Amino acid sequence: MTHPAQPKASHFINGEYVEDTAGTPIPVIYAATGEQIATVHAATPAIVEQALSTAKEAQKEWAKMTGTERGRVLRRAADIMRERNHDLSVLETYDTGKPLQETLVADATSGADALEYFGGLAASLTGEHIPLGEDWVYTKREALGLCVGIGAWNYPTQIACWKGAPALACGNSMVFKPSETTPLCALKVAEILIEAGAPAGVFNVVQGMGEVGGALVTDPRVDKVSLTGSVPTGKKVYAAAAAGMKHVTMELGGKSPLIIFDDADVDNAVGGAINGNFYSSGQVCSNGTRVFVQKGIKEKFLARLAERTGNAIIGDPMDEATSFGPMVTENQMNIVLGYIEKGKAEGARLICGGTRADKDGYFIEPTVFADVTDDMTIAREEIFGPVMSVLDFDTEEEVVARANDTEFGLSAGVFTKDFTRAHRVIGNLEAGSCFINSYNDAPVEAPFGGVKASGVGRENSKEAIKHFSQVKSVYVRMGDVEAAF
Ligand code: NAD
Repeated sequence: MTHPAQPKASHFINGEYVEDTAGTPIPVIYAATGEQIATVHAATPAIVEQALSTAKEAQKEWAKMTGTERGRVLRRAADIMRERNHDLSVLETYDTGKPLQETLVADATSGADALEYFGGLAASLTGEHIPLGEDWVYTKREALGLCVGIGAWNYPTQIACWKGAPALACGNSMVFKPSETTPLCALKVAEILIEAGAPAGVFNVVQGMGEVGGALVTDPRVDKVSLTGSVPTGKKVYAAAAAGMKHVTMELGGKSPLIIFDDADVDNAVGGAINGNFYSSGQVCSNGTRVFVQKGIKEKFLARLAERTGNAIIGDPMDEATSFGPMVTENQMNIVLGYIEKGKAEGARLICGGTRADKDGYFIEPTVFADVTDDMTIAREEIFGPVMSVLDFDTEEEVVARANDTEFGLSAGVFTKDFTRAHRVIGNLEAGSCFINSYNDAPVEAPFGGVKASGVGRENSKEAIKHFSQVKSVYVRMGDVEAAF
């Protein structure tokens, strides 16, 4: 019998499901059991061509609609997503292995937020009038054209919406390629947009590995590429986009600092560290995986952290009581286990976790290392799993310098009751998305993105509009034209 997660076909192009079984089969594995639940096929060159030519054509009419009309489609799609939240959450859990306890509140819901927010903004995207004596300049905010979105595997619904919603609000069309690890959810986003009234071809989904992503990025018809992925992939995609002088948004990896001062409320700081390391089993780009704890509070913090981490309910992601799920794939589990071994070998003190959980599927226990030093591998490289490194510090000046000593710059957080210090420290940290006495909140109203190797551009908020549109300026002369000859 076909598993309920099996999509009708691999791709969604021009308003309908499309199949081409000549493409490489991609198995979809449910991470909690290791069982194959679906198969899709990577896009063949013919499928890529179909998606790009359709999206190129559809964009022209879409951009001619008023912002109010485009916004209405997006807001309807948001409503449909909310109505179907339960089914979409179950699919997200099959796609990623993340527990239903999370997917019910974080995935289709945040996708719907993006559709609603950018649907609301669509009608307000206007230019300026700039008076110049009798003459004037007016500006128009125009669509870029055909945009490509490429997703990572940790938030497949959210990533499709975070890219699709602002792109469509501005009058662009999109070809979206989900991660080959989680190909299912974006198809539902495409289906819902059509149901909500989006013209066929405005939002298309094609499957495939990096090769398909590469074919999309290098196509001369593509005007913009928005990637969520790792830094090495980001460097390749950015370079390929630059060769075609295309716009980019790069949402890449991180190794973000979370700084806890002596005066912090211990339980809130522990809660922030748990949210910033163990949500989605640690598979979150903005995680605060270098937890710097001031020496005076260190042992109290570690004791409370170990106690609360022991309360994690590891198990069947479809059971709403489960609060901690598996790694997305066996490969990712092995990568993370490798980092845990390095942590042990390089002399970090294991506080809790540290092994694969005794279950089917790709579960790793939430793991905390203390006495981590700046030079250890686990403190330098992005692990993308449930491994928290706790480092000690003495002074504010010292911790800021150490926190910034990394190629990454996605997020940063500080816990303290001293607000002057909180703002000063955040002001001195090299990061794009920061938190004071909190960690990892990502409301659509707030800009999201990194500095340094963690990325270029911003998603969400009004900032995203700037990255999915361009300004045309028009000089209007009211009098005669003077010329030298
Ligand atoms: P990845 O870099 O391996 O893949 C990301 C996507 O890029 C996939 O869809 C992949 O098929 C595609 N791709 C790979 N090579 C390509 C190429 N040459 N041209 C075009 N596309 C190509 O990342 P992943 O393992 O799927 O996700 C984990 C990474 O993503 C982590 O580093 C994480 O921090 C990052 N991430 C960042 C954010 C953010 O918003 N900053 C969010 C989630 C994940």
